[in-house]
Amino acid sequence: MGSVQIVTTILAAAITAVAVWLAVRAVLKMVAVIRLGQPAPERFGDKAARTRTMLVETAGHTRMLKWGVVGAAHWFVMVGFVVLSLLVLEAYFEVVTPTGGLPVIGHWTIFGLVTEIITVLGLVGIVVLMVIRLRNRPTRPGGRSRFTGSTMWQGYFVEWIVLLVLIFGLVIRGFKVATDHFEYPLWATPVSHAVGAVLPDWSDGASVAALIKIAISMTWLIVISLNVTMGVAWHRFLAFPNIFFKREPAKPAGSGLGALRPMTSQGKPLDFEEADPEKDQFGVAHVEQFSWKGLLDFSTCTECGRCQSQCPAWNTGKPLSPKLLVLSLRDHAYAKAPYLLAGGGKDLTGEEKATQAQLAHLDVLSLAEGDKPLIGDAESGGVIDPDVLWSCTTCGACVEQCPVDIEHVDHIVDMRRYQVLIESSFPSEAGVMLRNLENKGNPWGAPQNTREDWTKGLDFEVPRVGEVDDFEYLFWVGCAGAFEDRAKKTTRAVATLLNEAGVTFAILGEGETCSGDPARRIGNEFVFQMLAQQNVETLNEAFEGREKAKRKIVATCPHCFNTLGNEYGQLGGEFEVVHHTQLLAHLVATGKLTPVQPVDGGVTYHDPCYLGRHNRVFAAPREVLGDAIAGDLTEMPRNSERSFCCGAGGARMWMEEKIGKRINVDRVEEAMATGAKTVAVGCPFCSTMLNDGVNGKGAGEQVEVIDVASVLLRSVKPEQPQGGRETAPIGG
Ligand code: SF4
Ligand code: SF4
Repeated sequence: MGSVQIVTTILAAAITAVAVWLAVRAVLKMVAVIRLGQPAPERFGDKAARTRTMLVETAGHTRMLKWGVVGAAHWFVMVGFVVLSLLVLEAYFEVVTPTGGLPVIGHWTIFGLVTEIITVLGLVGIVVLMVIRLRNRPTRPGGRSRFTGSTMWQGYFVEWIVLLVLIFGLVIRGFKVATDHFEYPLWATPVSHAVGAVLPDWSDGASVAALIKIAISMTWLIVISLNVTMGVAWHRFLAFPNIFFKREPAKPAGSGLGALRPMTSQGKPLDFEEADPEKDQFGVAHVEQFSWKGLLDFSTCTECGRCQSQCPAWNTGKPLSPKLLVLSLRDHAYAKAPYLLAGGGKDLTGEEKATQAQLAHLDVLSLAEGDKPLIGDAESGGVIDPDVLWSCTTCGACVEQCPVDIEHVDHIVDMRRYQVLIESSFPSEAGVMLRNLENKGNPWGAPQNTREDWTKGLDFEVPRVGEVDDFEYLFWVGCAGAFEDRAKKTTRAVATLLNEAGVTFAILGEGETCSGDPARRIGNEFVFQMLAQQNVETLNEAFEGREKAKRKIVATCPHCFNTLGNEYGQLGGEFEVVHHTQLLAHLVATGKLTPVQPVDGGVTYHDPCYLGRHNRVFAAPREVLGDAIAGDLTEMPRNSERSFCCGAGGARMWMEEKIGKRINVDRVEEAMATGAKTVAVGCPFCSTMLNDGVNGKGAGEQVEVIDVASVLLRSVKPEQPQGGRETAPIGG
């Protein structure tokens, strides 16, 4: 070992020792913070599916690759990080001796070839990512981007480190080539040979370059260890457990969507018959009341801003960004951690748990963080502003896009639950809806005895459950379908088409009440449970004696479809629920319904969030429209998984939209820009919102918003009177 190698070895060992010590400290700190969360025993089930999903999602980059170039570039960088870690390890042999290399595999040509390819692809990938970040920097001319609010220096820092590590890998090899100590052939390592051709014949060059490479890598480790909230770096490690512990591993696309998690206290579902707010946790009032998986979610956020770029609230000027919400919760959790780890925190009656002595050593900032309300405006120093919390439509675009499977909607609803159930704090206008649900069983407060009014004037009988036993489908009409004028047309269209196709069905009539979706999504789990239990009981009675496959329900409202199909199982109601567009697509495909007159004038389709993203029903409505219309469906730029919300979900239908541009107007502008005369929908809420948007733009005479079922009915029975305005712009 020469004198240069003695120095390089000592320096490499010293900086590595410091970095590893800091990294161990950082990991212990992170684990301690995550362990502050509540238990989540359900996250440990089905380990085989979890492992499979984690491997497929990470190795296959299933989310990222939906973003084309950026996904591919990130894949190369990720693979580069894993494989080229071996080259960092190899550098430790090279600081000791310039001709050193990894034992065994370091002499294989295949190792030289693979690492060469990955180095080059990694270099291309990181340069692409750097260019993308720069072109989308929030300070660029043109304003906000998905990186608005991200900690930009951290992103630049990580990218430069990757770039330099890759470059110095080639420099080490180049010095080995220049000194004739490189054992891989030219054909396997052409870039290394090209670098070697321009480097001097310096015998210590490889050792010095290896030291620089180690120093760069360890600087990265030191910086991220001193910044445990640096998700852009830590996600390289945390993404694996975060995906492994996702809510529904068997549902890689859409885990964290569909059903909401039941309310839990100490990891156990809450039973409202016995629950006591002084003993049980009702929603989330403090950051440590999220489950440990919630705290892992917050720690894992990469600050990539994909969620933000798709969020309807953010895109219409509301204060909510799912990314900024997650970052606020993360920063608060880590800032509050010293206080919590010292024994601090409030019990369920609001009393401080720690003694004066326990908190005596804490600095004033940690104590102040411990006192911050989780929800509160700027004046009260709240972590999350109420306007942020109540702007969410629970559309799921954030969950859909997040490459590390963060479950934003669950966290938002958990915070709403505490606000509604304990603080009675929510937008006052939604109070009428909640009272109507409690007293009348529907959000509009319509009399229950008018639930069947939509059947009046039909030229066939609509039987009730109990009047017939041999029905195939129970037709779940929903509150909108029963009481709201536009939705009633859809209900009638579906009933007419089912009758035409010879499908036997029956309704519950006055036995039906609201599914409970708006109550659950605003956070009033108590009212949801009340309504859901009543409905489950009624439905179980209606299907008594039938196996699950024969307990078939068809629903026209995606919110009911989602609640009955995905959430009633939590209360003992197991049913086979289909959306009407799925049943209609099947009836057309099997020849039971025959479109005879194509509807023309241009048609576009708006995916309802609770049908599409939350339940992955994208094809069926398009199939129905494809059979019923003349020409091809005109898609909006934001469609299918990336569809843009109408603004009504998450009980926003019953809240005023006071901030920013109206979401429905934004969507209607996109629909109208396609030039289509008909905007087809598959949800009564979307229908209301988009109709309001069209009318608000004074375009009611040019553009019609109607349900897919009504479009099909016009094609199947063109002679059928459609009533009112609906016939004017389409149908030929
Ligand atoms: S669910 Fe939709 S509205 Fe709510 S934060 Fe996510 S993207 Fe935004
Ligand atoms: S998409 Fe996920 S990782 Fe990216 S900023 Fe949003 S929450 Fe963070």
